[in-house]
Amino acid sequence: MKKVLAFDIDQTLNVAKTPITDEIAELLVKCLDHFEICPISGQKFDQFLIQIVDRLPQPTVEQLKHLHLFVAQGTQYYRYNGTEWEQVYNYPLTDEQVAKISQTIEQAARELGLWEEDKLKPGDEIIENRLSQVTFSALGQKAGTEEKYAWDPDCKKREKIVARCKELAPEFDYEIGGTTSINAITPGMNKVFGMTHLLEELHVEKSDILYFGDMTQPGGNDYPVVQMGIETITVRNHEDTAYALRGILGVL
Ligand SMILES: [Mg+2]
Repeated sequence: MKKVLAFDIDQTLNVAKTPITDEIAELLVKCLDHFEICPISGQKFDQFLIQIVDRLPQPTVEQLKHLHLFVAQGTQYYRYNGTEWEQVYNYPLTDEQVAKISQTIEQAARELGLWEEDKLKPGDEIIENRLSQVTFSALGQKAGTEEKYAWDPDCKKREKIVARCKELAPEFDYEIGGTTSINAITPGMNKVFGMTHLLEELHVEKSDILYFGDMTQPGGNDYPVVQMGIETITVRNHEDTAYALRGILGVL
């Protein structure tokens, strides 16, 4: 039997950038009694709390100890020590790397007419420094879900931006994720990095893990996990994930 259930977050556990549903929250808490549960996503730590942890219905300390947060594609790892979330490790980008990436993505998007500054909500930003990665969100963090879905449903806009970024600054990797996002990282600091550290931290083998993700196609931010040879379930959305989890819990 698998020991670890690992999950992409956006579009796998939730509607991108929103808290998980009651149903997913209940299923995850049940899973904590049987598996190590590892969300791994490009998002920041506070979003893991808002979108997942705070939504769990009255988890026990024991259950929380089986929840492992692999933040910023697993370049940061947090676990619950019985009273609070403690950071176990962190591998941030340098200030120079952050500046170079930010400049590159902005230039690429501007050249392609895809720099949508005029559509931002007050105080919002297109490029965000997430410490271990820099994230481009075409319409900002605060844009509405429908608006985001409509922006680039076939990923074509983001593929163009990525192609240009690779010409401008080939020393970085660029991955498409979520609905409007591109994550820029130093090579190797993708989900392979996170999953490799997960194997070490949890003392498990690849074959112990079942991974859920929505971007498992080549170029997608879940694809590196597929390439590692970890068993993967491709979902379209959190409803597919709920369906699969009900099945898993049903046969235990
Ligand atoms: Mg996703």
